[in-house]
Amino acid sequence: MTYYAGIELGGTKLVAIRANGRTITDRVTIPTTDPGETLGRAVDVLRGWHDAQPFAAIGIGSFGPVRIDPAAPDYGSILSTPKAGWAGTDLLAPFKRFEVPLALDTDVNAAALAEAAMGAGRGCDTLVYLTIGTGIGGGLVAAGKAVRGMLHPELGHMTFRRAAGDGFAGVCPFHGDCMEGLVSGPALKARFGMDGASVPPDDTRWDIVASDLAQLLANLMLAVSPRRIVVGGGVGLGQRQMVRRAAAMVPDLLSGYLPDIDSAAMETLIVPPDLGEDAGPLGSILLAEAAVRNG
Ligand code: ADP
Ligand code: ZN
Repeated sequence: MTYYAGIELGGTKLVAIRANGRTITDRVTIPTTDPGETLGRAVDVLRGWHDAQPFAAIGIGSFGPVRIDPAAPDYGSILSTPKAGWAGTDLLAPFKRFEVPLALDTDVNAAALAEAAMGAGRGCDTLVYLTIGTGIGGGLVAAGKAVRGMLHPELGHMTFRRAAGDGFAGVCPFHGDCMEGLVSGPALKARFGMDGASVPPDDTRWDIVASDLAQLLANLMLAVSPRRIVVGGGVGLGQRQMVRRAAAMVPDLLSGYLPDIDSAAMETLIVPPDLGEDAGPLGSILLAEAAVRNG
């Protein structure tokens, strides 16, 4: 078996794992502080692993927006993040010293790859991975590959038709009432005046949230035609009933236009993650594997 190193860089923590094949053998969690300290500690962890048993490649799944196109001059850089100190950070430079192939994608694309390969989307060639938490991130696997292009999918920042009569302005610092501005944890807090976790699942205040999320799900069905949409994150997992309600609204929103989409289909299409917290790190291992395979 070959060893690989995988890193998931999130807004609050960095998770580094070592895997023998696809089996996780080691895991270290480091709080995300400033770039120098955070990446420096990750390098130290990997150095210890590499000295004991060399790994063949490193995969990194990062919060975005991040330049993942190897042909770009700023390949590996974090772009316009509101996260203090991180804009312009080169994520790859600190890891070049290991002299092994490096692969980089978004944290959610990595998670989508892992859920499609070995999680809730096993056997699905086309899949969306949504995390609804502090923000909303969306990863996309199409025809078995993570989608990347000029940049990468940013599904949380799309805007949709608002629920009738809803005057909530939304909290996204860029767009106000994009999906993240309406349905993320901080958006719920602003809308309800309290943490979403304190609002009972059967409270009618969830109706409007479900209606907003349904817009995203319906449009993903139209744009991507996924075989599964995996919904995780603090809100996604903590408010399964709201997510199920949103899924149930999709057939009506589509007005029968997509013939396969009825409420039974939506029940099996929208699923929780199977890999939990491991989805991102394991996805990074898949990126590392692919980097070796593709040279
Ligand atoms: P992150 O997105 O930072 O990785 P999480 O996915 O855990 O972290 O999401 C954290 C967000 O989810 C917080 O805004 C929190 O208020 C919200 N949250 C956590 N649990 C629940 C719940 N049961 N219901 C609604 N919102 C929740
Ligand atoms: Zn936005």
